[in-house]
Amino acid sequence: MAIGVILRALKRRIDPNPKSQIFSLASASRSVSTLVLAEHEGGAVKAPSISAVEAAKSLGDDNSISLLLAGSGSSLSEAAAHAASCHPSVSQVLVADSDKFAHPLAESWAKLVHLVQQKGSYSHVIATSSSFGKNILPRAAALLDVSPITDVIEISSSHLFVRPIYAGNALCTVKYTGGGPCLLTIRSTSFPVSPLLADSKSNEAPISQIDLSTFGEDSIGNSRFVKVTSQDSERPDLANANVVVTGGRGLKNAENFKMIEKLAEKLGAAVGATRAAVDSGFVPNDLQVGQTGKIVAPELYIAFGVSGAIQHLAGMKDSKVIVAVNKDADAPIFQVADYGLVGDLFEVIPELLEKLPEKK
Ligand SMILES: Cc1cc2nc3c(=O)[nH]c(=O)nc-3n(C[C@H](O)[C@H](O)[C@H](O)COP(=O)(O)OP(=O)(O)OC[C@H]3O[C@@H](n4cnc5c(N)ncnc54)[C@H](O)[C@@H]3O)c2cc1C
Repeated sequence: MAIGVILRALKRRIDPNPKSQIFSLASASRSVSTLVLAEHEGGAVKAPSISAVEAAKSLGDDNSISLLLAGSGSSLSEAAAHAASCHPSVSQVLVADSDKFAHPLAESWAKLVHLVQQKGSYSHVIATSSSFGKNILPRAAALLDVSPITDVIEISSSHLFVRPIYAGNALCTVKYTGGGPCLLTIRSTSFPVSPLLADSKSNEAPISQIDLSTFGEDSIGNSRFVKVTSQDSERPDLANANVVVTGGRGLKNAENFKMIEKLAEKLGAAVGATRAAVDSGFVPNDLQVGQTGKIVAPELYIAFGVSGAIQHLAGMKDSKVIVAVNKDADAPIFQVADYGLVGDLFEVIPELLEKLPEKK
């Protein structure tokens, strides 16, 4: 009976009805031109960067949107080709091809943004609120001597933005009154790209190489790339997954947390964790969801042994359907859950694993 509740939520996920969000178009009083900083991997622009283009679109009808990519070699060329057709609103793709950008170091990227901004006089520069954007944009803003506006979730006009404050408990409307370009980071989950739009190959924006002759050795800064360590996983990226299964301190240890991983595997879901689970060493901190972790908004978010502290809710409360399993009926997570089950996760998860079909 209790399991039936969760199975019904899973069914809803299989037949999702993604509502295409409509944002009020900006009543731009003057023309806008936007530089979007694009992150790419494996020869493709990452989905959150395409959401940044979607956000840029709401700055004004006449907005000319340039997508900036940096890197080197064939993966950059492939990503540039993808960038040219990834969204019909892209007007041009700018490519900085140099070994200096083989790894996205914030110092060199910030100087690149400064250079490109000076040449193109863009009214806006947008990046995502990912670690990529959060690293680069404030540095670029300092070089341009402007104040950035971060974590934007709604664009009301070309100079009016909404952003969450107090861990998402209040929304603040901010007017940009600066004289220079307006630099923004946006939450990609607030600017979903319609799958139809993302698949349309109707647009082929021109690709131009950036002249880096003035970009000297001193532009690289003091940091050096040493190595990247990542876990090879078939699982979807946490920030973009349709389904997220999260475990909290209720799992008790790393060994038990493997049940969450098994369940995620069966559902083709990403794994998330609370900060308490991360701090207790159950999983690495790149799985943390929340105010100081990743912000997610999947079709379905399932939380096991998660109390629902505001700092955790700040990262997942925009999920379309939230399912919570907790043995404490008064746990705050039930205040945001669409489906709540008061029960012991050590009984519920094994039962779910048994009843759910194998992933095809
Ligand atoms: C500045 C700041 C930033 C923070 N940022 C984040 C953040 O980004 N993300 C984040 O998650 N937290 C963050 N935190 C921490 C946050 O305040 C909470 O401490 C944390 O989210 C609690 O994690 P938890 O729910 O796993 O653990 P707990 O609060 O300990 O909850 C464990 C839950 O498991 C339940 N449980 C136990 N055993 C079982 C069982 N057998 N079956 C079912 N349920 C069971 C309990 O009833 C309890 O509700 C931040 C805190 C601060 C101060």
